Amino acid sequence: MSSEIRYNRLVPHRSRRWARAEVGNRRPVLSPMNLRARALETRIEKLKQQITALGDLRPGSLTPQYNVCGKPACRCKATPPLKHGPYYQLSFTWKGNSQTQFVRRQDLPAVRKQLRNYRRLRQLLDRWMVLAMELSRLRLQPEAQRGRKTRPKPRVFPKT
Ligand SMILES: [Zn+2]
Repeated sequence: MSSEIRYNRLVPHRSRRWARAEVGNRRPVLSPMNLRARALETRIEKLKQQITALGDLRPGSLTPQYNVCGKPACRCKATPPLKHGPYYQLSFTWKGNSQTQFVRRQDLPAVRKQLRNYRRLRQLLDRWMVLAMELSRLRLQPEAQRGRKTRPKPRVFPKT
């Protein structure tokens, strides 16, 4: 998409002078609304880059488990008991289905990193959506103003 098309769509009806300023000068002079849109676009672009750089992802949570075995004289039956573990259980719910799986000790660092990355992804997406909603409102506003101008509300005259 060329920046000119994008710019024109952002120009509100009442600030045509800003558009004229851009045509006349090499450097575009942007209205406050367009400046805000540019700032939002830049921040969204940065978030996209951060998302791309995240690496492996994994939804879910890791919890340590302690077990009791079947041996009668084991330390896990002493008072106080010294249970076996921790064993790490990874659990997550995906599309309504709960799943759990054990993670080997040597895989823990990698899995922890994937879980962190997934939490980070959700955070970045939240930020992106907040900015996206504002940007969408900014872009729709000029259309709404134009709509009101071309189709004014019918005036109701009081009957006398
Ligand atoms: Zn035991």
